[in-house]
Amino acid sequence: MYFSREVRLKRALKTALICLGITTLCVCIPGAHFLLVPTGILLTPFVVLKTYRVTTSLVGASVRCAACGGELTRLSSQERYPLYETCITCGRENRIVSHS
Ligand SMILES: [Zn+2]
Repeated sequence: MYFSREVRLKRALKTALICLGITTLCVCIPGAHFLLVPTGILLTPFVVLKTYRVTTSLVGASVRCAACGGELTRLSSQERYPLYETCITCGRENRIVSHS
């Protein structure tokens, strides 16, 4: 599944709201809020930017091993191609590229 610019912006905004919501809840934790709130505020832009840069999702995708035809079930969540996944059936490493 490929994410358009609009979808990527919506995902990034949703991530920002979740991060800032969690950070806001951390205000209520006595003592730890001195560390958690600044950390949440500082990390939120990085998490949002990382989410925005994700252009594809392999959730629900079916990818087969080039050597044995076994299904690759442990697809990583890397946002950049090529992906490298090891087949659990034959142990061969498969290189997965994007055709977009
Ligand atoms: Zn295989």
